[in-house]
Amino acid sequence: ICSPLPHPDSIATLEKLRRCEPLSMRGMPPIVWDKAQDIYIFDKYGNKWLDWSSGVLVTNAGHAAPEICKAMIDQIQSGLIHNYVFPSEERAEAAEIIASVSPEGLKKVFLLSSGSEATECAIKLSRAHGIKVGGRSKIGIIGFTRGYHGRTLASQQAGGMAGLKAWIVNEDPAIMNAPFPDGYWTEDTSFDTFLKAIEDKGFTGDNIAGVIMESYQGVGPEFAPVEYIEKLRAWCDKYNVVLTFDEVQAGFGRTGKFWAFEHYGVTPDLICCGKGISSGMPLSAVIGREAIMDQFPPGSMTSTHTGNPVCCAAAVANIKKLLDEDLTGNAARLGPILLERCKAIQKRHPDVVGHVSSAGLVAGLQITLPGKKEPNHDLAHRIIEICYQRGLLLFAPVGAWGQTVKICPPLTVTEEALIEACDVLDGAVDDAVAGK
Ligand code: PMP
Repeated sequence: ICSPLPHPDSIATLEKLRRCEPLSMRGMPPIVWDKAQDIYIFDKYGNKWLDWSSGVLVTNAGHAAPEICKAMIDQIQSGLIHNYVFPSEERAEAAEIIASVSPEGLKKVFLLSSGSEATECAIKLSRAHGIKVGGRSKIGIIGFTRGYHGRTLASQQAGGMAGLKAWIVNEDPAIMNAPFPDGYWTEDTSFDTFLKAIEDKGFTGDNIAGVIMESYQGVGPEFAPVEYIEKLRAWCDKYNVVLTFDEVQAGFGRTGKFWAFEHYGVTPDLICCGKGISSGMPLSAVIGREAIMDQFPPGSMTSTHTGNPVCCAAAVANIKKLLDEDLTGNAARLGPILLERCKAIQKRHPDVVGHVSSAGLVAGLQITLPGKKEPNHDLAHRIIEICYQRGLLLFAPVGAWGQTVKICPPLTVTEEALIEACDVLDGAVDDAVAGK
């Protein structure tokens, strides 16, 4: 499918980036994107890839969906591209449609620009609430091991990836991690372990302000057991702790439910979302209960580009498309096919595919050292490299140790295209394991 890779001109672009913006680079396949359309990515040299990254779980409604592009172009042509915090119809419509897809009781929305900004905001709101109900010492924040919430100061620390921890520059002793009870990397899934992790840090419910958790953990997707989440909800209620589900990558239909926390049957106090909210424009939101959201005066959560009218127009068109075409339903329908194909790979290679999990149209293969429960970044990387040489584009290996082959096509993918891509993955794993 692909002409000789990487193309020499792509190398020149990559070199330019390496010289000028090296910190943005990570071990991605050396493709310089030129165009994207629905489930395909193109470069300038005649290469085409089936996209199994969704631009890191962003383009749920497909790349460059015509109705979303039209909404943005119309907005640009209207002459209103930026209005700071002055009211605009687009901003009101975006807030309204986001509130309309949110659960009962969570109807207040802050529009922001990135997922990190949303989780940072949720942490700030949780602390303000904690201080209000419990005094100055109720500021503890609990995140989970191997979690990811962004790269601002507090969000980075609430995340639990080893790589992120290495870059903490201003450690806050009141932000801590409990083990994420995924059942594979952390076998112990009992809620007592959560309580013990806090006690070990010298905290109790009385001085914890908030818990922030990815609804499914990106390393997988891994869900916590339902009983664990029920106990967590009850514990938060007992101690007046704000529970935030981070839906930045899990939301907007990805898992076969509109919000991934619906799989638990438990509602949080705050939802952080971004990525799939607008299929590519920089917009994010915190959605929450009135009593928590209304603690700060109007304007105190705003920055220059939050609620930008072009981003808002994109979000409205995007959410309408997700709903009108029932793309959540498509994820739920195709999810079992994807899981079955991944399980078949694991059955052929149980030595190195330690664990497989999926929810709707997100799946992950945990690649291990042969016969051991230890991460195998090199093999994960090789599988992805072969896929890209054969026209299937996956994100660089993710997960706490770069050991996860993560699959996340746009939710507009057809059954036929999904099966075609699964065939490529099959061959790539076989060949990588054979040392090719
Ligand atoms: N939370 C989760 C679960 C994420 O996956 C991400 C981004 N990968 C973020 C927060 C941060 O979002 P952003 O990169 O837009 O700041």
